[in-house]
Amino acid sequence: TLSDRLADTFKQLRGKGRLSEADIDATAREIRIALLEADVALPVVKEFVAAVKERARGAEVTGALNPAQQVVKIVNEELVTILGGETRRIRFAKNPPTVIMLAGLQGAGKTTLAAKLALWLKGQGKSPMLVAADLQRPNAVKQLQVNGERAGVTVFAPEPGNGVGDPVAVARTAIDEARRTLHDVVIVDTAGRLGVDAEMMQQAADIRDAVQPDEVLFVVDAMIGQDAVSTAQAFLDGVGFDGVVLTKLDGDARGGAALSIRSVTGRPVMFASSGEKLTDFDLFHPDRMASRILDMGDMLSLIEQAEKSFDVAQAEKAAAKLTGQGGDFTLEDFLEQMQAVRKMGSLSKILGMLPGAGQMREQLENFDEREIDRIQAIILSMTPAERANPKMIDGSRRARISRGSGTKVSDVNTLVDRFFEAKKMMQTMARGGGIPGMPGMPG
Ligand code: GDP
Ligand code: MG
Repeated sequence: TLSDRLADTFKQLRGKGRLSEADIDATAREIRIALLEADVALPVVKEFVAAVKERARGAEVTGALNPAQQVVKIVNEELVTILGGETRRIRFAKNPPTVIMLAGLQGAGKTTLAAKLALWLKGQGKSPMLVAADLQRPNAVKQLQVNGERAGVTVFAPEPGNGVGDPVAVARTAIDEARRTLHDVVIVDTAGRLGVDAEMMQQAADIRDAVQPDEVLFVVDAMIGQDAVSTAQAFLDGVGFDGVVLTKLDGDARGGAALSIRSVTGRPVMFASSGEKLTDFDLFHPDRMASRILDMGDMLSLIEQAEKSFDVAQAEKAAAKLTGQGGDFTLEDFLEQMQAVRKMGSLSKILGMLPGAGQMREQLENFDEREIDRIQAIILSMTPAERANPKMIDGSRRARISRGSGTKVSDVNTLVDRFFEAKKMMQTMARGGGIPGMPGMPG
């Protein structure tokens, strides 16, 4: 999967203090593949990746994230910005009714959406009316009536005198009817074809001219992938629209269509439809869509977590102590570090995120969570004096500590020995003596 591939790229990058041009290129390549796999249109991918590279070059390296994670963070932020840059709500007319017209291919989900939107508006205190201006398919009117009934809203359908067979007349009559019956929002459902078709476009444009909608919403099935761009372009040229509704997000489409349509047409995605139930509908959330497109929800939440929990000041304090500049490194500090790590969640997940702690990380990788619990219990069973000065922990103290922590005396011995070893090793490293045991290194 993409996450795995990116993780591989990032493995090579981790531990680096700064991103080289080659690193940026390698990461950009993976991001590019990710976007293409999410069905983002190629020209949009190119432009986007170029923008990300630009930002990555100037990225500052912070304590909490390694450079690769920083690139992912940049990508995510850019995606969210582009997807949500100009997101806006429905503009209601000063003089009701507000007219909302739906346009899109057959099967896009317009009729379903009409009822979802009506229910949603009703929940906001509006009094919507649905208009059946799709007279193309035999069942279309009936379908809207059924959906409208489920939503508990009025449906205006063609009848003798309402313009049977003429969707433009139906739509026009409906607006008058809404005004008369004090409905403040009118949602006009229109016909679609399986493909873009001049006659259908003309009909939609005629309805538009007749009802002068406040909003034209282009409804598009997220599953149609790369075709979304050309379809959107055709509707933009033929009818014009103000916003986009993405449907069938409950399917497995990664949703790149959202980014493509947004970039190519300049029109924002306003709503997301994600199921057959009328309540499977929401305002569009750029952040959710961004992580869906990237398919990296796990990594994104890790990044967020790391930023939240990584206390730079604390890390610096510990580092200073290790190098002998901030007083002696004690078991108390050891425990504090342990707890900071614990705060970040599961250790195994976090290992990849520790910036520039190569040797330390390898040691940590051999730890398991239970061992941390044990270490924590042992240190907590020590007196403050013992924690500050582990040298004083003699045989009888070890026996007491092991009883207090519910561990074996040998566990206490191991911990104390390890602490001294680690401390010695770190002080050697801090003096520039190299890493003991490394090939070609002294020690
Ligand atoms: P229209 O031709 O544009 O009016 O599309 P419809 O509203 O008739 O929807 C076409 C089909 O897609 C119907 O079977 C709907 O139940 C289904 N549908 C619409 N929206 C969604 C959605 O968000 N998720 C899923 N799974 N199905 C949907
Ligand atoms: Mg329909």
